[in-house]
Amino acid sequence: MNHLLAPSPKQPDKAGDAFRRKRLQLAASSDDVLRARRVATPSVSCVVPCRNEGENLVELLPLLIETLSACAADWEIVLVDDGSTDRSVLTMARWARHRGVRVLQLSRNFGKEAALTAGLTAAGGDVVVMMDADLQHSPALIPTFLQHWRAGADVAYAVREDRRDESAFKRVGARWFYRLLNGGERFEVPAGAGDFRLMDRAVVDALLALPERNRFMKGLYAWVGFEAVAVPYVPAERAHGRSHFSPLRLISLSIDGLTAFTTWPLRAVSIVGFTLALMAFGYGGYLTWAYLVYGHDVSGWTTIVVSLMLFAGIQLISLGVVGEYVGRIFEEVKARPLFVIKRELGQGLGERQT
Ligand code: UDP
Ligand code: MG
Repeated sequence: MNHLLAPSPKQPDKAGDAFRRKRLQLAASSDDVLRARRVATPSVSCVVPCRNEGENLVELLPLLIETLSACAADWEIVLVDDGSTDRSVLTMARWARHRGVRVLQLSRNFGKEAALTAGLTAAGGDVVVMMDADLQHSPALIPTFLQHWRAGADVAYAVREDRRDESAFKRVGARWFYRLLNGGERFEVPAGAGDFRLMDRAVVDALLALPERNRFMKGLYAWVGFEAVAVPYVPAERAHGRSHFSPLRLISLSIDGLTAFTTWPLRAVSIVGFTLALMAFGYGGYLTWAYLVYGHDVSGWTTIVVSLMLFAGIQLISLGVVGEYVGRIFEEVKARPLFVIKRELGQGLGERQT
């Protein structure tokens, strides 16, 4: 909760009144400090990751340019081409001739998270907005984001008002994913928040300073902290083309997120192993006792086969869980760059200022 924007609690007694006045003074002075740092018209970078979005860009860019020109002193749009296979690079190259539009062409498809990181690295604005190219994220929300930033928030992020437009698989999956992700962490990854957000320069620098390769951005936004304000919105329908995230890719992304931000699966494996060992120990004791009391009994091979299969299954699952973490360590240790830039077109804020 953003304490700067939240109303202060009611204090009915006299001492409480004095306390409240003091608090309000303090809040006002801290607001002043923040406002002094916040220029009324910051330079804005808008990062848009694109994979085969030519048709959408033709509609999005005029809207975005109009919005940014109206609300920012200076702005740039950083289009990151994430290995498009259609003619969208040609569309981008045409737009790169427009003042303020800049294109980073990656050498292949690196994935949305890497494309976003590439865009953030290139962005030179006082604030950075990130949005999808498919018109699901309306540019009309950018002035609202900026208002929150001027009022002292470091981050303003869009949160889906409801998920009714999504399939049952996505809705139930998302609920479980956030429950598993947020269990026991000191910070919370808000459900329904995506990459559509505005971030202060300090937040962008903090994100870029994180060295990891597995960039589960939603987790990283929450990890860096800062004052964040949620702005409810209803995402529009995708204008053209289809979503790049199939159910299988979403499952794989969820595993990336869970392994990057939690270690409880490893502990859960240990607890299951320990419980089963205890049970096996108890059952072994019972069998010895039964043998001593009733003598040798050959029946019970079904139990043996079933328990053998059960234990073998649990062992393989446990190995798989540990393997997921080992795999991530392997990725991190190799320390390959997150993306490779093939070509840059157009001029951004940085070049224009120098
Ligand atoms: N995207 C990307 N690289 C990818 C997949 C997607 O840059 O490998 C971009 C895509 O062009 C779009 C944004 O990420 O601008 C969101 O993708 P999409 O609309 O497919 O996701 P959804 O809205 O279904 O979650
Ligand atoms: Mg989309």
